[in-house]
Amino acid sequence: MICELCNAKCCKTFIVTITAFDLFRIAEHIKDYKKYVEIRKPDILNYDERFLIECKECHGLLAIKSHPCAFLKNNRCSIWPFAPMACKLYPYNIEGKMVKNPVCPFHAKILFKFKKPDKEIVERAKKENELYALIVREWNKKKGKRKDVFEFMIKRAKELSSIHRLV
Ligand code: SF4
Ligand code: SF4
Repeated sequence: MICELCNAKCCKTFIVTITAFDLFRIAEHIKDYKKYVEIRKPDILNYDERFLIECKECHGLLAIKSHPCAFLKNNRCSIWPFAPMACKLYPYNIEGKMVKNPVCPFHAKILFKFKKPDKEIVERAKKENELYALIVREWNKKKGKRKDVFEFMIKRAKELSSIHRLV
């Protein structure tokens, strides 16, 4: 695996923003998931405004506590089978193209250029992003309390996963 050439540089470098679908999968496996996630101020470059969550006491993006990522253990992802789509895609973007200046070491960068992303993951991530934008819009209309955001996101992701046969 290409990432074995590296010591999880991406997991230490980036703030990992996630969608309600990523949160739903994480919550299915990790009971105390709230310890690992947050609504983070949008203090990062190039975020998608459709994903900006508003509530009475918050304004930000759904994210894993990062720097390094809270799920990184001994330089390995401890939740890889249900890791966020952005992690599954990196160093490719949602369009399936390599991101500009990936943080991967030189050799890994070259190998990733030839490998190409998994098409199924690209398609799934696109669909989930589209639906996530709808979920955020729904939430923002009612602007509920911060303590209810995670449950709302998980509930809607579960319902939409079933309707759109994403499970
Ligand atoms: S969830 Fe896993 S792959 Fe994603 S940043 Fe965290 S440790 Fe890395
Ligand atoms: S995606 Fe790149 S930076 Fe991240 S672990 Fe793999 S090789 Fe390292």
